[in-house]
Amino acid sequence: PLPQIRGDVSFDNIVFEYEPDRPALKNISINVKAGQSIALVGHTGSGKSTIINLLCRFYDPVQGSVLIDGIDIRDVTLDSLRKQVGLVMQDTFIFSGTIRDNIRYGKLDATHDEIVQVAKAVNAHDFIMSLPDGYDTQVEERGNMLSMGQRQLLSFARALLSNPKILILDEATASIDTDTELKIQEALKVLLKGRTSFMIAHRLSTIRHADDIIVLDHGQIVEQGNHEQL
Ligand code: ATP
Ligand code: MG
Repeated sequence: PLPQIRGDVSFDNIVFEYEPDRPALKNISINVKAGQSIALVGHTGSGKSTIINLLCRFYDPVQGSVLIDGIDIRDVTLDSLRKQVGLVMQDTFIFSGTIRDNIRYGKLDATHDEIVQVAKAVNAHDFIMSLPDGYDTQVEERGNMLSMGQRQLLSFARALLSNPKILILDEATASIDTDTELKIQEALKVLLKGRTSFMIAHRLSTIRHADDIIVLDHGQIVEQGNHEQL
């Protein structure tokens, strides 16, 4: 298993292809220090999701290795990897159940107080309390009664509760109003604190806050630096 980690992440000369002779990543090297936030940007098909797929070990590289704290992730159990690498996906996954169940998700031993605490920390508590039954409100599978921004905040609460050292965020492209945008940015700051994060970022506000921005094109890094440098 993966021991308690700091959260350093390295992609060491990664080559990856989904299909023979069609490389989706060509010689990618990235070094991330624990606690840093990385924004991955680039056109559709440039390789952003593929980088995330490798970090989650949905696939293994054809060449090179992905290291966490210097340990090759092929050498640890998937279970221990998943505990330390949290994923907040674009079309935030809401299942049929109460709001509380949706925040609690895999952490079945979380108490009500812990759930309220994370909801407050990410600015979700107020909208939850405005729902007919608060934390006991039933939501449907697709979360239809919730706005995109509300779903995003719920997924942040869920991620905060599970407390992974490394966090992956596939930001939603859907447009949201300025008020919600501000709430999300604030919540994001709370969520990212003390974690290494990889964000497939679409909003400029998110990109601006990243410690390092990696620009991909056709499976290669074409630019890298912070917002001022680029
Ligand atoms: P988007 O912004 O559209 O999400 P992306 O930057 O995430 O794009 P990737 O999904 O990483 O891009 O795709 C990189 C390349 O790999 C593309 O050429 C894509 O067609 C290819 N690809 C992605 N997933 C698969 C798959 N499951 N099978 C085969 N090829 C794939
Ligand atoms: Mg993608």
